[in-house]
Amino acid sequence: MNCIQCNRPAHGVCKFCGRAICKDHFTTSNIIMDIYPRKNDQEKDRVLVVENVLKCSYCKPIENLLEIDIKI
Ligand SMILES: [Zn+2]
Ligand SMILES: [Zn+2]
Repeated sequence: MNCIQCNRPAHGVCKFCGRAICKDHFTTSNIIMDIYPRKNDQEKDRVLVVENVLKCSYCKPIENLLEIDIKI
């Protein structure tokens, strides 16, 4: 598999979109790996965030957060 930008052999795969990237062209980002909804009203919803995961330069988060309903 080759880098999406320079077509040389890739060193990894973007965690977000799956494009292959070499060490010259990857960036890093944070990703939410898991979501823990609150169990009662005293708690808050929590997320497990992992830092420094591989990211290509093509995919990017959209600006506005989307509202969802988490059904427990
Ligand atoms: Zn590259
Ligand atoms: Zn990507």
